[in-house]
Amino acid sequence: MNALEERIMKDGVVKEGNVLKVDSFLNHQMDVELFKWMGEEYKRRFAGKNINKILTIEASGIGIASVVALEFGVPVVFAKKSKSINLDGEMYTAQVESFTHKNVNTVIVSKKFLGPEDHILIIDDFLANGCALQGLIQIAQSAGATVEGIGIAIEKGFQQGGRMIRNLGYQLESLAIVESMDAANGSVEFREQ
Ligand code: 5GP
Repeated sequence: MNALEERIMKDGVVKEGNVLKVDSFLNHQMDVELFKWMGEEYKRRFAGKNINKILTIEASGIGIASVVALEFGVPVVFAKKSKSINLDGEMYTAQVESFTHKNVNTVIVSKKFLGPEDHILIIDDFLANGCALQGLIQIAQSAGATVEGIGIAIEKGFQQGGRMIRNLGYQLESLAIVESMDAANGSVEFREQ
């Protein structure tokens, strides 16, 4: 088991509705030492890729992406969830359905911060059905940017997102892939990688 898998076993809580709570170390309180390990691991897995920017989505992706960006020595851009329907033409937009909140957000990135010259690594905390990633990929495509890879902390392998994104041909690296989990007894099983 790697450092993230061990931490999930120790502090992750399986909830009803296929939700894994990791708020004590990943997306509420944040263990930045663990994030540092994650950054080093992505650096190793994406070695040789020419990455000049990290793209993530608010809110939970930002902390991880910032530490990963330090490792790569590049800036982070995060897609903002916007309530405004009054968007001017200076933004790339995508619709993202939230797995946890069951609503649809318009996410936006300013055209100032993403363009055809960018080679990006997309980072997010979770991959479930893949809606968040699809939105970020759509924004990258609108910008004419190149997606060099996608780094996820926790992929729920029993949901469809991972298969869909890999079928599109992207290099998707998830540091922990949960194969199955059970809210009744709190068990979590990981895919061998
Ligand atoms: P997707 O768009 O792939 O269906 O879901 C990804 C997003 O939903 C992530 O950005 C994450 O914030 C949230 N999410 C999905 N599944 C879980 C989960 O089991 N636990 C937590 N804490 N967040 C999740």
